[in-house]
Amino acid sequence: MIIAMQEAAGEDQIQQAIEHLVKLGFEVHRSTGARQTVLGAVGAGIDFDIRNIELLPGVQEVHRISSPYKLAGRGFRPEGTIVELANGTRIGGQEVVVMAGPCAVESRDQLFTTADAIAKAGAKALRGGAFKPRSSPYSFQGHGEEALKLLREAGDRFKLLVISEVMEISQIQLMLPYVDILQVGARNMQNFNLLRELGKVRKPVLLKRGIAGTLEELLLSAEYIMAGGNYEVILCERGIRTFETYTRNTMDISAIPIIHKLSHLPMTADPSHGTGRRDKVAPMARASVAAGADALLIEVHCDPDKAWSDGAQSLFPEQFAKLMDELRMIAPAVGRKI
Ligand code: PEP
Ligand code: MN
Repeated sequence: MIIAMQEAAGEDQIQQAIEHLVKLGFEVHRSTGARQTVLGAVGAGIDFDIRNIELLPGVQEVHRISSPYKLAGRGFRPEGTIVELANGTRIGGQEVVVMAGPCAVESRDQLFTTADAIAKAGAKALRGGAFKPRSSPYSFQGHGEEALKLLREAGDRFKLLVISEVMEISQIQLMLPYVDILQVGARNMQNFNLLRELGKVRKPVLLKRGIAGTLEELLLSAEYIMAGGNYEVILCERGIRTFETYTRNTMDISAIPIIHKLSHLPMTADPSHGTGRRDKVAPMARASVAAGADALLIEVHCDPDKAWSDGAQSLFPEQFAKLMDELRMIAPAVGRKI
């Protein structure tokens, strides 16, 4: 941490700041220039609030240089994390893994028709909600365990991994036999009790960025899971809420290279929730691969106009197949493959 003292700070204020830092466990290095004193503080734990230092008399500004997350930070595993999945699929390696499927599991027919189409187009995992976080309590909330059974059956039939959202602690054990990846949705990014419980399981977790979540908060949420011993965390950008209303959310493509710099964890992009509009999904998916995404999560429905949720942002199977062809051309340009 760097503490710049005000030009007018007296020696007593500088000493007071040094004593405060030493009490917190820092080793303090002082450098006094012609006009200003700067303190370099190193070596304390990571749990401190820089505002307490900013408030000390004579302090002008404080900059934190160490990250507040230990396990999720790039320094923990500089070479990057590869999450190995059941059928030999690896997320975080050279291959960009595409996960696709309907927003929610509606029926056997809907799921199997969609799964067949996405498998033929080259997807590696089938997505589909069994428990749906809906803005309105009157909207379809998901078929629960019935949906999980269908997902597993479709996954096995079409050789696809299965990913589905877990909304609360009581669903974890129920879901484990059916899914290969547990998805934590945007609304639960800071459900710390749920994250702690997911730290105890030994199954990959895909953690989505909250609608108003900063990247630091996303990484701190990943830290909750990792602190429990589950290091198989995959992050996901799915758009954030901004003042722009044209799209459902604003897809922050820059989150992809930023996360790769700050963290060793694989980074996924979800252009479906990121834009909320079918016609904007392919351009944002292409941009995500170009920006270095390790995986994509895309909503595809066999009959989007009749979808029970998120139909407007779900691709028709033919659109998905075309997008996959385009992504297969883009990936090699950035050293990846699909
Ligand atoms: C979903 O993937 O269907 C979903 C609800 O996503 P999010 O949590 O990003 O809104
Ligand atoms: Mn959805």
